[in-house]
Amino acid sequence: MIIVMAANTAGDNLDKVLAMADCKGLKYHIYQVGNNTVIGIAGNAKDNNIEQFEACNGVERVLAITHPFKLASRDFKPDPTVVRVGGVEIGGERVVIMAGPCAVESRQSVFETAAAVREAGAVILRGGAFKPRTSPYSFQGLGREGLRLLKEAGRLHGLPVVSEVLAPEDVEMAVEYVDILQIGSRNAQNYPLLKEAGRVRVPVLLKRGMMNTIEEWLMSAEYILTEGNESVILCERGIRTFEGYTRNTLDLSAVAVVKRLSHLPVVVDPSHGTGHWSYVESMSLAAVAAGADGLIIEVHPDPLKALSDGQQSLNIDRFKALTKKLLPVAKAVGRTV
Ligand code: PEP
Ligand code: MN
Repeated sequence: MIIVMAANTAGDNLDKVLAMADCKGLKYHIYQVGNNTVIGIAGNAKDNNIEQFEACNGVERVLAITHPFKLASRDFKPDPTVVRVGGVEIGGERVVIMAGPCAVESRQSVFETAAAVREAGAVILRGGAFKPRTSPYSFQGLGREGLRLLKEAGRLHGLPVVSEVLAPEDVEMAVEYVDILQIGSRNAQNYPLLKEAGRVRVPVLLKRGMMNTIEEWLMSAEYILTEGNESVILCERGIRTFEGYTRNTLDLSAVAVVKRLSHLPVVVDPSHGTGHWSYVESMSLAAVAAGADGLIIEVHPDPLKALSDGQQSLNIDRFKALTKKLLPVAKAVGRTV
């Protein structure tokens, strides 16, 4: 439900509306839209007694949000959300390129990759320290040491960093190192983890669960938003289908749908989305054409030796070639890189 206060209404009218919301135990967020103060209330409209709020002094109108997601919806907040990390804006005019290894493997390789991706135009460094591997025998990541190396490499090259956390109890520790907290596809419906990510004040990159509908994905975002963290970046990374020639089916239509339904920025991960380095370039260009606010791409100096996801990682030359091709596509859709 959205309550629009009349322009320049007296402050005590607003206080009374907020007191009523408090009385009902409702969580709310306050925005300024032009001269109007707007109160967004999460929860079911019927339970919120729309008429009672409509009757309050100073209330111009009350709108019910019909989607199950409320704070994530465009009805709640018509203007696009721009997430700011360091000097980088995600959701603005510029298409943001995030790149780096699937996993932080060693000091030498993460530093080398950071320097190279930065030179090629990346503005955010990615790298996993806690890896969600299918097999317990596969490389699980360097943990806290990996986060430390990633942060150091990022600082050296002026790149904010993004990394995944798997467990709610690691969130507080991870935010000492990361500029963006990543919640991976396998944990997209891990509600205790989503709530914990909602309690910190670091932006969250929320991957789409590989079996999730767009609505389920936005409901996961809602878990983070209702805890008070307003900086959520959605990431389309492909869903499981019957198709076997790609690791996942990259759902670029989700970009268009999410842009209509939500104010949150959307980035695309063509690496996990396809599972093969040779498809990464075309899907990156297509993602930008489709309106994505950014890309997150796996890059490794020697993909054949990578400890995880080498088959879908671009080497440095291929990444450079890709970034050169992005600008004309971005320009064609009124964006820049
Ligand atoms: C990753 O980005 O490192 C990752 C594991 O991706 P996803 O959660 O999309 O599989
Ligand atoms: Mn990976």
